[in-house]
Amino acid sequence: MTDYAIEARDVAVTYADGTEAVCGVDLLVEAGEFFGFLGPNGAGKTTLIKTLVTLLRPTDGSVTINGFDAVAKPRSVRATIGYMAQETSIDPELTARENLRFACDAYGVSRAERGGRIDELLELVELTGVADKVADNFSGGMKKRLDVATALVHQPPLVFLDEPTTGLDPAARNRLWEYFQRINDEGTTVFLTTQYLEEADQLCDRLSVIQDGSVVADGTPEALKQRVGGEILAVELSDPDESERAVAVARDESLFAEGAAIEPTESGLAVTARDARTRGTDLLVALRDADIGVVGFDVRAPTLDDVFLAVTEERPDAESPTETADVRTETGGGGGDSRATTVPDDGKTGPAGDADGVNR
Ligand code: ATP
Repeated sequence: MTDYAIEARDVAVTYADGTEAVCGVDLLVEAGEFFGFLGPNGAGKTTLIKTLVTLLRPTDGSVTINGFDAVAKPRSVRATIGYMAQETSIDPELTARENLRFACDAYGVSRAERGGRIDELLELVELTGVADKVADNFSGGMKKRLDVATALVHQPPLVFLDEPTTGLDPAARNRLWEYFQRINDEGTTVFLTTQYLEEADQLCDRLSVIQDGSVVADGTPEALKQRVGGEILAVELSDPDESERAVAVARDESLFAEGAAIEPTESGLAVTARDARTRGTDLLVALRDADIGVVGFDVRAPTLDDVFLAVTEERPDAESPTETADVRTETGGGGGDSRATTVPDDGKTGPAGDADGVNR
């Protein structure tokens, strides 16, 4: 029995039309972790998550979930995971309680356990008051909350959440974050895909950033931010057309420690440097001496946005002037060779009473 909840080695997924959606991804997620998988649209997040929950078969590599090989033992995998797909799977014609009962049927939760479990889950996602109302009238946030609950009826030790808060307003999103955090605090391993950097930052112990099917950076949110290379000093110029000249001043004066990234921005320039805060005033003086007007400046700690931009922007262009990050930038497509394209269709995501259908 492995110690890992998720062990994916060199996983590649090529669709039947030849699209190499996932190219040689390695992932190790320990039991109890809250792990994030972050990437822009089309990066391969959903393809990977479907592979982990056994809806897609990897074209290459191996996937082990809770100690079970995903290709050889898909049913065992499915019995030990919960999966919240991107598209809601609740039946709008059923009440919240009926939806949960239906999920209990699909997951084989015994009748004896059912009542208590459903009440607990309704409470967890704060739907007790509307338990017997038809879900069709629920807000988007309420539907998502019910969706989360249906993925948890069999108390799985590992839950997969595919962009669970997309389309929700900030208040609804915050509420869901609380439930995810609570589930994780109680010991459930959580694997979350998201496009929201703030979400990953708030929730995840560790995360991987995926682009074009390849992992381009991974680590704790803090470590990733540190890899951006210091704090960020943004200077707003009275004449943004002076940006390039200002950048030259910042570089010529050798104001900042080695490794600083100095770049033009739309309103002026940005310096990412370990000594951005302490040397900021020196830069302002140098700009004034060069007759370049400054109307504002700001020093801030890096966010995951900076990490994300650093690793996902301009990667295809080797001539890019970007010097910002020292994150991993190996080119995507490792493993993108001419592999067989025998990935089964992924059409089923509903509970659907299909013994083979993934949970949910
Ligand atoms: P999003 O955030 O938009 O959901 P994603 O990161 O989840 O994006 P995927 O949906 O996994 O990305 O898509 C990865 C790549 O695979 C994209 O180029 C997409 O167009 C392609 N793709 C997805 N599903 C299929 C399919 N069934 N057949 C062929 N190509 C597909």
